[in-house]
Amino acid sequence: MMPAEGVSGNIASNKKDHRRDRAWIEIDRQKLRHNVDTLQKLLPPGGRLMPAVKADAYGHGAILVAGELNAYGIRHFCVATVSEAVELRQKGIRGEILIMGYTHPEQFSLLRRYRLTQTVVDYAYARILNHYGRKIRVHIKIDTGMHRLGESCSHLEMIVSIFRLKNLRIKGLYTHLCAADSPSGPPEADKHDFTVGQAGAFEEVVVRLKKQGLPCPAIHLAASYGLLNYPELAGDYARVGIALYGVISNRNDCSERAGLLAPILSLKTRIAAIKELMPGETVGYGRRFVAARKTSIAILTIGYADGLPRALSCGVGQVLINGHHAPVVGTICMDQTIVDITAIPQVAAGDVAVIIGASGESEISVYDLAEQAGTITNELLSRLGSRLCRIMV
Ligand SMILES: *Cc1c(COP(=O)(O)O)cnc(C)c1O
Repeated sequence: MMPAEGVSGNIASNKKDHRRDRAWIEIDRQKLRHNVDTLQKLLPPGGRLMPAVKADAYGHGAILVAGELNAYGIRHFCVATVSEAVELRQKGIRGEILIMGYTHPEQFSLLRRYRLTQTVVDYAYARILNHYGRKIRVHIKIDTGMHRLGESCSHLEMIVSIFRLKNLRIKGLYTHLCAADSPSGPPEADKHDFTVGQAGAFEEVVVRLKKQGLPCPAIHLAASYGLLNYPELAGDYARVGIALYGVISNRNDCSERAGLLAPILSLKTRIAAIKELMPGETVGYGRRFVAARKTSIAILTIGYADGLPRALSCGVGQVLINGHHAPVVGTICMDQTIVDITAIPQVAAGDVAVIIGASGESEISVYDLAEQAGTITNELLSRLGSRLCRIMV
């Protein structure tokens, strides 16, 4: 069934023509494939990727991305919430889907109905899961120093007790490295030592479980930085998120291997109208831009509700039109953004403006935007909104 004329949104958007959309995301399929291949080569023998497709695949479109990864033969995914997992399953994503966050007991029935795998966030939660009375697939999370989710690695007896709960089908045991963003090197030595310590504490749990004769499930430690900087630690799965999308969190984080990846997302929008301002006229809410001379402006059909950070207002951010930079003037609105096109020849209503990606010889990267907005790529990407259409190109 074709979507109704003019209807936007990310469902089934892969098949529709985006040329009538007000703002959209293009995912480069070849680059996604390249990143998958690159990351797979880093894995230890027998290791597999478990892509993190939470937060709508960091804004890239979870169904679009996971569907593509399924086609590559990837059969493990992780998400943050049960509703994210249910949506993947409802849209036909196959394989194991691990929920890394907390699921409320009233939603346990969804775990079974959609064949999902729940994280055991600590011993108390394991007992609540067991009390549900029906078999649930789980991975047990071990806290080795991040002090977020997971039963403490020092509580071995409790971890052993989790293995004895009869309704838990234990398929995995994992921890999360929280300082793997910096490999070895003098200024970062404490982070390096901390990471090695986390891996050691996790290994110790595994060894002691084995000594107790417990069946050892699959183990995993690494997210993107873990795999990029400590590939030897990865174990059976690497829960890669940001690296799969071709970037790291900060451009300047030291990771030699980050350069092997290719950013896969472009963000584009359209010019709704063009206006000429006389000197002294102002633009937008609060009249924050005052034209010093005759000025041409273009009104773009994207705003902060689409995830374009309002911090890019008033010249902090720019877009590309026909390969030229056009600075943002005034404050970014919820649904519109206004840019100065005085210096750009031959711009017309309906033309495309590039927010992230290449235009002619120029390019604006997600790093540029994240830095201008004072955040990391992960936040910027994951906040790209649900009104944006997402397509694979
Ligand atoms: C989000 C998340 C990941 C993926 O992290 P990246 O740094 O984006 O690769 C992996 N593991 C856990 C527990 C997470 O919450």
